[in-house]
Amino acid sequence: MPSPNYSSRGGAAVRLIVLHTAEGALTIESLGNYFASSSSGVSSHAGADDTPNTVGEYVARDRKAWTASNANPVSVQIELCAFAAWGPDDWAAHPTMLENTAKWVAEEADAFGIPITKLSATEAQGGGRGVCQHNDLGAWGGGHWDCGPAFPIDRVLDMARGGGRPQPEPKPEVIEMAAPATCTDSDGRQWVFYKGPRGELYARCDADPAFTLGGNVTDAIAVIPGPRLQFDVYAYAPNGQLWSRHAEGFDWGDWYAV
Ligand SMILES: [Zn+2]
Repeated sequence: MPSPNYSSRGGAAVRLIVLHTAEGALTIESLGNYFASSSSGVSSHAGADDTPNTVGEYVARDRKAWTASNANPVSVQIELCAFAAWGPDDWAAHPTMLENTAKWVAEEADAFGIPITKLSATEAQGGGRGVCQHNDLGAWGGGHWDCGPAFPIDRVLDMARGGGRPQPEPKPEVIEMAAPATCTDSDGRQWVFYKGPRGELYARCDADPAFTLGGNVTDAIAVIPGPRLQFDVYAYAPNGQLWSRHAEGFDWGDWYAV
């Protein structure tokens, strides 16, 4: 949905890709309706929400959108349907929005020959070429604080460099501890406990495939076998807290602090 709120860049060359949070609109359609009203007097080139593989386009990239004060002539800009007050969990709940944003960043970077580099505030306000957030523009850019301190810009830029797809989860490759914890259960089966690459605990019974028990542990693990296929695993968390998890056969309880 096009917005009437734009003007000429006045010959200025685009050097900034600027990310914003919309602070109200929850969809690219409602954001478009807002920008479509000339009385709102604001606009942005694009908007991102949780619709897969879709961004809202409101102002053509060769025109100046109205959302970042003095920075508008040199910026191409997107509004995420999000809030600067969001915390890490809020952002983590919107992976599609982040992916859409990353794809848009990659497209604009390609169109303008702008590097997908995170600029400091000094660089953004001082002639640098790259990607920044509205808050990096300071008073020169209208004095806003979006996209907020929890916005995962590094993740978005990583995705933009990788063509907009999230990186696949690393395979849970098992790394043997210096001395893996072992025990023999009451049926004579051999159990081995390993620490995975991200501190998660893995267990393996005889030659069966290893499975994860989660957690975040150090190398210090003890296993106490009990009767009828029971055992208790003890492991230290990195903060020194001792945790335990009780098993009866393959039925594992939750981790609890000892
Ligand atoms: Zn903004």
